[in-house]
Amino acid sequence: MPQIKKILIANRGEIALRIIRSAKEMGIKTVAVYSEADRKSPHVFAADEAILLGPPPSSESYLLGNKIIEVCKQLEVDAIHPGYGFLSENAEFADSVEKAGLIFIGPSSEAIRIMGNKLAAKKAVSAYNIPMVPGTEEAITDPEFAKQLGNEIGYPILIKASAGGGGKGMRVVHKAEELEEQMNLAISEATSSFGDGSVFIEKYIESNKHIEVQILGDKHGKTLYLFERECSIQRRHQKVIEEAPSMVISENLRKEIGEAAVRVAESCNYHGAGTVEFIYENGAFYFLEMNTRLQVEHPVTELITGIDLVKEQILVAEGKPLELNQHDLKIHGHAFEVRVYAEDPENNFLPDIGTLTSYMRPQGYGVRVDDGFEQGMDIPIYYDPMIAKLTSFGSTRDEARKRMVRAIDEYTITGIKTTLPFCKFVFEHPAFIDGSFDTKFVEKYFGEDSLKSNNIEQEKIAAVMASILFNKGSKNLKQKSTSSKEKSNWKNRAFR
Ligand code: ADP
Repeated sequence: MPQIKKILIANRGEIALRIIRSAKEMGIKTVAVYSEADRKSPHVFAADEAILLGPPPSSESYLLGNKIIEVCKQLEVDAIHPGYGFLSENAEFADSVEKAGLIFIGPSSEAIRIMGNKLAAKKAVSAYNIPMVPGTEEAITDPEFAKQLGNEIGYPILIKASAGGGGKGMRVVHKAEELEEQMNLAISEATSSFGDGSVFIEKYIESNKHIEVQILGDKHGKTLYLFERECSIQRRHQKVIEEAPSMVISENLRKEIGEAAVRVAESCNYHGAGTVEFIYENGAFYFLEMNTRLQVEHPVTELITGIDLVKEQILVAEGKPLELNQHDLKIHGHAFEVRVYAEDPENNFLPDIGTLTSYMRPQGYGVRVDDGFEQGMDIPIYYDPMIAKLTSFGSTRDEARKRMVRAIDEYTITGIKTTLPFCKFVFEHPAFIDGSFDTKFVEKYFGEDSLKSNNIEQEKIAAVMASILFNKGSKNLKQKSTSSKEKSNWKNRAFR
């Protein structure tokens, strides 16, 4: 059985750091790669060695698979961890890695290929008794045929890109008259984003929750489920807040959905860590897709199971059998994750660029921050605008929720607008507290004015603080300089 001694992490930012940390704990050496935009990134300094790949655009740096493989040969690397995004779901890259005699820390290229295409995935699982959303099993090109299907399935329907990801190429159609136009838009978006214009139709499930199951399989035929995560708080069909476990999944359903996820994994002989995504409505769940990599939101599963998923990925890649059995796995407590994006929630979540003029992480019991930035750094425009992932853990959901609100209040980020104020709004919202929320939370409850009252309150506090500090300061000049600093910080915090 091969023993991995040195891993190259073909990624950047928080996930590169996350992987380096587990590798260090296992006594494995690490190689970081970076682009010119990331010269000063913490992941570059955390690794034992670091190699510059090229200019900032991903196509000239993090996506240069052949160059990365060359680096591995030069530095006597045994294995590549692709993280998420970039090359992680690129079957050709996984193939080239194996052909070069290296270990790809992930599933087989065949599994990536099947699950990377939503239609191929549906076909693969069709013999495994997996509940599916009513819809087509083939790509559609003829609008007249699509209209016929629309009438059979019943409106609203959803047009989806087969090669889709990140919510792209998805269009909701409410009536037959809109179908042709929406279908053409979906096809052109899918073609420009994925180079593959195949689209298909699904019944649009109006009030749905996004429930996904973490699975872990070894190369000896054992596959486990590590329970569910709920990721229903989304904007633009993309996740912002995740939690584990989900409030709506009963013990029976947990077993049912977990076992369904294992069957999905078995349909493509999956090994490593993977995520099977389902859509949930009124106690029923339907297969959406499988992500053949480590997921952004994996920390919430780590917190409730006590399992280091990156470590397990590495052991599986070495060919070790999983030591755990399904009955060993238990849920302990509750965990939340918020994605801290450089975006302006008060302006339609548009990306915000700039410098992290101040950056202070929350600390304390039950709080974890995964990030890849330091104060003074710029958020590069070339990559995903995620600054950090903030996770909270508690013995109950309510404890973890209150802890998250406390941690968000403690997080100080100035210079860039972030999703943190939006996240705080969610964590204090009655529909989030009682679990009745669905993937339409933003449309239903969040407007551009939703944070205003919060801002006004904080502005008032800032004004009171400033006047107290000013009065104190007028007695002592030295103190006065402190007061103006405090004042500006309070003001900034109001806009966090
Ligand atoms: P992507 O690969 O682009 O992320 P997914 O199939 O995983 O696409 O779906 C992303 C999100 O879109 C889901 O979490 C859900 O909110 C919504 N969605 C997907 N399919 C449906 C459907 N049939 N009905 C309603 N919403 C859906």
